[in-house]
Amino acid sequence: MDRACRDCHRIIEEGKTVCKCGSNSISRDWNGYVVIVDAEGSEIAKKMELKNEGRYALKVR
Ligand SMILES: [Zn+2]
Repeated sequence: MDRACRDCHRIIEEGKTVCKCGSNSISRDWNGYVVIVDAEGSEIAKKMELKNEGRYALKVR
């Protein structure tokens, strides 16, 4: 089961314990899944205030 960062919602790669944003607040309890391929041109990325491409969870508890 993948885990997600509570701070930036990024999906954490298998085996990593720290997110790329520097947070180690990581949860297995998350819902929804979004892949941002073009952060500048994506409406979802704008709504979620995502600045980088990647895989993100919509909700992280
Ligand atoms: Zn993060």
